[in-house]
Amino acid sequence: MSLIDSTLAEILVCPVDKADLIEDEESSRLECSECRRRYPVRDGIPIMLVEEAEGGSNV
Ligand SMILES: [Zn+2]
Repeated sequence: MSLIDSTLAEILVCPVDKADLIEDEESSRLECSECRRRYPVRDGIPIMLVEEAEGGSNV
């Protein structure tokens, strides 16, 4: 059981730095492997908006 579709997961990258995302099924979020921003997933749809993301460094 995956948070989002695996095909979708493969093409998704962080909009800030284009880094790969790590699925966090417990909190229903995708975490960037680079800047550590956490993007919410609602009903299987990842919300890839910087304004919606939690945390991360602003470098
Ligand atoms: Zn990032």
